[in-house]
Amino acid sequence: MTSPASLSSRIPGIPFLHAPGPTRLPPQVVNAMGTQPLELGDPALDTLIAACESGLRRVFGTAQSDVFMYAANGHGAWEAAISNLAAPGQCVVVAGSGTFSEAWALHAEGMGVRVQRTACEEGHAADAGAVAQLLRADSAREIVAVFVVHTDTGSGVTSNLQAFRDAIDAAAHPALLVADVVASLGAAHFDMDALRVDVAIGASQKALMVPPGLSFVAVNEKALNVARNNPTPRVYWDWLRRKSELSYRKFCGTPPQNLLMGLHAALGLVFEEGLAQVIARHRLLADAVQAAVQGWSERGDVGFHVREPKSRSVSVTTIAVREGIDPEALRTLARERFQVGIAGGLGSLAGRIFRIGHLGDLNAPMVLGCLAGVETAMQASGIAYGPGVAHAVRVLAGPLEATRGEAALVEAALVETAAP
Ligand SMILES: *Cc1c(COP(=O)(O)O)cnc(C)c1O
Repeated sequence: MTSPASLSSRIPGIPFLHAPGPTRLPPQVVNAMGTQPLELGDPALDTLIAACESGLRRVFGTAQSDVFMYAANGHGAWEAAISNLAAPGQCVVVAGSGTFSEAWALHAEGMGVRVQRTACEEGHAADAGAVAQLLRADSAREIVAVFVVHTDTGSGVTSNLQAFRDAIDAAAHPALLVADVVASLGAAHFDMDALRVDVAIGASQKALMVPPGLSFVAVNEKALNVARNNPTPRVYWDWLRRKSELSYRKFCGTPPQNLLMGLHAALGLVFEEGLAQVIARHRLLADAVQAAVQGWSERGDVGFHVREPKSRSVSVTTIAVREGIDPEALRTLARERFQVGIAGGLGSLAGRIFRIGHLGDLNAPMVLGCLAGVETAMQASGIAYGPGVAHAVRVLAGPLEATRGEAALVEAALVETAAP
């Protein structure tokens, strides 16, 4: 009982939440949720739901797709996609990108669906070439869909969705493209219609700054047709039943109203800042974090888990530690002594990495505070690191035009694909 932190149970100031989800809630979201639920027949409820649907459509980058919302976490949205698209015995391809692609594959297998996996090379993006090979070999056209995780939150790797679109097109295969954008929606540029992603999956508690418990799927007409012909018995998840004007039907029961109020407020914040600016801000903050990690890595105890800079996520950065260093001890110290919550390794990465989430309601000094907290925890743990925060400062102090330029590029891409 010698550390100053243990002398008192009071912890002053703000705890820094830097897991890649759940993320910090903006006060506007907290306030919006602290209201009484509406009576189910109140037209304000329909207005709220319609606003959430249209806001999500904008964030997903789709004009035509239906958006279905579930009172469920991201795994619920996975189950929705699997149960609507594939019957037991049918086959899907899951592109290996890390913990989440593997969990999604196991989820599909748990529902009786056959899964063909492409190999996941640690620290690398998913392999579109391997998917192309499986599609070309599928002369019986048994593969119903290709599942790709855009940002695999466990490894911090972001895969290039366009490469998977191209692989399906090049094979002239009818398989649907299903993208899990849970960790990248509202953080990285994503345009469902331009990419011709057939089903996109998101959740509330990552970059969208809402508590866990809501998930969404955007479904285009092609995917809806596959669902129409899919004999799998399903009720709660069924897109066709949910395709209704009645709010009670849309949610297969009572809508999760307070979460929807939170989502509505959060989408309002995204559009007030500007979606392009939100994406540019995530890029800049990720550059700052990754500059710090680059600096830290000079002494050899810690370094990037994801090899290629272009595959490093804008939402979460994964830091590998030298053998003999316990990242869980570092996490505990960072949390308990310095009030910085960072994430650990999942599955095969447990005990080998830690992760810094940099998504959602964040600005530059918050990210600097997190990085300084981690640096201080590394110092206190006797971990050798090169100067990191100084590099992050340099990135953040760079010319404003650089960020504005980034936002303008994203804006141009969004305008190009926006529906009239
Ligand atoms: C968080 C996450 C999920 C799962 O979300 P839960 O809400 O924990 O079920 C799925 N995919 C990705 C990429 C995620 O980051």
